[in-house]
This record gives sequence, structure tokens and C-alpha cells, in this order.
Amino acid sequence: PERKPDNLDSLVERTISLLQPLADKKGVTFARGFTERVEASIDASQIQQVLTNLMVNAIQASPTNGLVEVSTRRETMRFPENADGPFAEYASIQIQDNGAGIDEQTRDQIFEPFFTTKDVGEGTGLGLSIAFGVVREHDGWIEVDSHSGKGACFTIYLPIESVPA
Ligand code: ADP
Ligand code: MG
Repeated sequence: PERKPDNLDSLVERTISLLQPLADKKGVTFARGFTERVEASIDASQIQQVLTNLMVNAIQASPTNGLVEVSTRRETMRFPENADGPFAEYASIQIQDNGAGIDEQTRDQIFEPFFTTKDVGEGTGLGLSIAFGVVREHDGWIEVDSHSGKGACFTIYLPIESVPA
């Protein structure tokens, strides 16, 4: 997989365009929150796959006429598993829906391959495990913030500079 500097806002925009028909069927609206130009060194087709998986989940979780908010920003932070490590610049992409949310017990399992709460044909349970793997390969991470009844919010963090191996 080859990484190149790419604009995440335009990648998000292209992914929204591809998913617009699926959203329209349910009356789901996308809101964009692009505040600044956000670039990161990525394998664009792999990250587009991640965005697609997260956005399809958000649309599926949405009520009829729901709202999916996608925003990007730059943040200076530490890698969460290395609390004493150096601060670095990350690009973050956040996808928030107003569906039923994810309870605590389910949340512990969602990144496992083949874990799904959906009916046959609706999901294979692979989307989030693939997303997790791709983001880790980019030296980033995924966070989920959700409480039953309050929707789900997934954030992916990607280092802005590619980290030397
Ligand atoms: P699939 O979508 O095929 O079920 P995923 O790996 O994409 O597989 O997601 C795993 C599970 O995580 C889903 O079945 C669902 O229970 C939960 N989940 C993922 N995204 C959301 C969301 N936005 N809102 C509520 N639940 C979610
Ligand atoms: Mg899915």
C-alpha cells in the first residue's frame, strides 16, 4: 500500500457523493464540518474504504430523515497507548449519527471480525474490523463515543506526517 499526501476534506466529499443515493432512500441528510484544510499521508483508496464503512453504518443506524454529521480537523495530541510519548499532529475525521447508539456491552465487540447485530444481508460484521486494521496500518486509531439512545460518534485519527518505519 502506497501513501501520498492527500486532502481529507475532498476524500470525505467524494465518499459522501457515492453514498448520497443510499442516504436519499432514507431521507438522511449529510452535514459537513470542514473548518480548515486537512491533509494527511494516506493510501486514499484504503481510507475511502474506511470512510465508506463508517458512513454506511451511520446511515443504517439513522432514523428516517436522520442527520449524519461529518467533520474534519487537525489536532495536536499523543498516541493514546503511549501516554508519555511525543505530541504529534493528527488529522481527525468524525462521523456522528442520531441513531439508537451502541450500548456498553455491544461496544466492546464491534471491532471484532464478523460481529454484527444486523440481519443477514444487511451486514457481514467486517466493516469495523477492516476499518480498525487500515487505520492501525496508518499509525492512527479509531475512537467510538456512544450511549444508548444518543447516537454514535466515530472518530479516526491519522498522523499528518508519515511516521518513519
Ligand atoms: P455490520 O455493519 O456488517 O454489522 P460493522 O463491523 O460495520 O458490521 O459493525 C459492527 C456492529 O457495530 C454493527 O452490527 C452494529 O451493532 C454496531 N455499529 C456500528 N456502527 C454503528 C452505529 N453508527 N450506530 C449503532 N451501531 C453501530
Ligand atoms: Mg458495517
